[in-house]
Amino acid sequence: MTDTFFHPVSGFDLPRFAGIPTFMRLPHVDLDHARLGDVDIGLIGVPWDSGTTNRAGPRHGPRQLRDMSTMIRAQNGATGVRPFERANCADLGDVSTNPADIFDSMDRITAFYERVTAAGILPLTAGGDHLSSLPILRALAKTAPLGMIHFDSHTDLFDSYFGGTKYTHGTPFRRAVEEGLLDPRRVVQIGIRGTAYDMEDRDFAASVGIRIIPIEEYFARGSEDVMAEARDIVGTAPTYVSYDIDFVDPSVAPGTGTPEVGGPNAFEALRVARLLAGVDIVGADLVEVSPPFDASGGTAFLGVSIMFEMLCCMADATPGPSAA
Ligand code: MN
Ligand code: MN
Repeated sequence: MTDTFFHPVSGFDLPRFAGIPTFMRLPHVDLDHARLGDVDIGLIGVPWDSGTTNRAGPRHGPRQLRDMSTMIRAQNGATGVRPFERANCADLGDVSTNPADIFDSMDRITAFYERVTAAGILPLTAGGDHLSSLPILRALAKTAPLGMIHFDSHTDLFDSYFGGTKYTHGTPFRRAVEEGLLDPRRVVQIGIRGTAYDMEDRDFAASVGIRIIPIEEYFARGSEDVMAEARDIVGTAPTYVSYDIDFVDPSVAPGTGTPEVGGPNAFEALRVARLLAGVDIVGADLVEVSPPFDASGGTAFLGVSIMFEMLCCMADATPGPSAA
């Protein structure tokens, strides 16, 4: 049993629409907090969308995701996992980004995550657009390149946009491979679909050994078979999980900037995250929720529900609470 300081506020004690909405109603432990060293898994907001090339809005994601996360209860209904009793979890707050300077923002994000990893905390991030993953990986892959399981309708492997702009939400994993942050032979991208500019991203993937599982193959094989292959590709070594909400069909997740039709439903969206169990997850993110396009809040609720599934896998794999 973990320290009760780290237990979320129960809806039996305070109605879930009341109180200050931290992630999953956990305590807010900022990086200067006395209990920081006792945190096992930190939930972090990256309110930033300066890499967005189309419809903006994910800068508003963390606040909306926090609000909808008050709907999350303590136990996983499918697996029985009670993550908050397995690991000390806390809301570490938001990275202070700079909406007017993309490079300064990336440096701020990396510096924040360096402090998180130095404290021995596994980060679970709420974005933010998908460029957020790059500065996070810079902090997490300091000693060796990581594997990655990536859910998305896009590869985000393009070289550049607008005639040479290298840092957008369509390029983070091209940069991450170039910078040696990812081992491309231990990277799998699941759900890829939609119209394309060209095949430049796919050609790059093939040239470095990244495995792409297009949506047609995903539906033909089913999530269990696909996730068994994904777990096999990343193996037992440290792995990052990056989950773009546009992996999910826009009929159930319309609140995102670059939707692609013909994707998985909400049940499948949760199931693939549940099937991460057993992976050595050193960090995970849920990105691209865009509240201006999410009138009902349903996309954000699905987003935090996916985060809870990932949290359960991360907590179940921890050796136990770091505090007695
Ligand atoms: Mn993406
Ligand atoms: Mn995408």
